[in-house]
Amino acid sequence: MNFGTRLLHNGNEIDPYTGAASIPLYQASTYHQPDIDHPGAYDYARSGNPTRQALERTIAELEGGSRGFAFASGMAAISTVFFLFSQGDHLVVSNDLYGGTFRVLSDVLPRLGIRASFVDTTDPDQVEAAIRPETRAIYIETPSNPTLKVTDLKRAAQLAKEREILTIVDNTFMTPCLQRPLELGADIVVHSATKFIAGHSDVVSGLVAVKDPEVGERLFHLQNALGSILGVQDSWLTMRGLKTLKTRMEVSTASAHRIARELRRLPEVRRVFYTGLEDHPGHRLQASQSDGHGAVLSFDLGDKERVREVLSAVKIPIVAVSLGAVESILSYPARMSHAAMPPEERTRRGVTDGLLRLSVGLEDPDDLLEDLDRAIRGRRIAAAGVEWRASIV
Ligand SMILES: *Cc1c(COP(=O)(O)O)cnc(C)c1O
Repeated sequence: MNFGTRLLHNGNEIDPYTGAASIPLYQASTYHQPDIDHPGAYDYARSGNPTRQALERTIAELEGGSRGFAFASGMAAISTVFFLFSQGDHLVVSNDLYGGTFRVLSDVLPRLGIRASFVDTTDPDQVEAAIRPETRAIYIETPSNPTLKVTDLKRAAQLAKEREILTIVDNTFMTPCLQRPLELGADIVVHSATKFIAGHSDVVSGLVAVKDPEVGERLFHLQNALGSILGVQDSWLTMRGLKTLKTRMEVSTASAHRIARELRRLPEVRRVFYTGLEDHPGHRLQASQSDGHGAVLSFDLGDKERVREVLSAVKIPIVAVSLGAVESILSYPARMSHAAMPPEERTRRGVTDGLLRLSVGLEDPDDLLEDLDRAIRGRRIAAAGVEWRASIV
């Protein structure tokens, strides 16, 4: 069956106890045990809950893994995965990294004797050079945030396999709808399901899928030991959002393509970052390892003053951190996701003071384009003193 069908018919969509067409909220922390010598499938809800389990089995199925896990947030998912490692272990990590993941790797794990080297994983030579005898995993985000650099997942997984270390991929930007890292050789996929998977800006949630049942067993042990589980209501909301993932990704990706192309025609826009544009350095690789370019793009307006003008003039996208929702979200990485990074380091990574990131939602793209065009050309329109007419719709 194809992905769109498996989203809705994957064996986990009907409640096995009642036949309900939506998995009920099993709002219970503990379960009656009729025979203490023969415990049932569930004993305590940290270890297992039918609502959460339906979501966990669904993500395993969609990513092509043997086992799935649901966590209280993307960061709870990622942090629990990091607990697979021990004192003295070393990780090779994409240097274009979600800020929260960078914080755990730089502020928390070194105290436990787990260290990371941050390299440009789009260059396999740099990955190879950074691998040490004590390296236990390569950790990748692709396309990266916010300049959408693309890492060759097959190549990275091959490098890891030759050394018998793990490949971990943060698949938040793509979702299994567009990219399935386990099929390309990765061992573990992590998600902030807060973004596209849940998709409605109404829940914070994290998911993991693993290929090898033995790694799955270790991760189950950690999830239960640390207690970093997703609650019942949020499991239900995540499942509810997930059902429309394909439709949402298709509509938002088509609009993102169009907006990226049109933004490039405005003289106020210095540069547009979107892997769907043929001159993006990662365009061909992205096309070869995924089923699409996704709904996130970035563009550079040159300086902070221009950014301020545009952010105060737009009417449709909300101005916020986060991405992957039904409504479009404009973020200012220099002051939001990358605020903690020193300015020189930020600029070196292309996160300039003029850069805005747009996560395209489900609004009519004509309206989005008209709104962006008016906001971006605002100064020019005022100077010309002419009645405004959209130029890029
Ligand atoms: C948001 C995000 C995270 C963190 O997820 P939370 O659900 O906010 O904890 C991790 N990785 C990426 C790429 C993200 O965008």
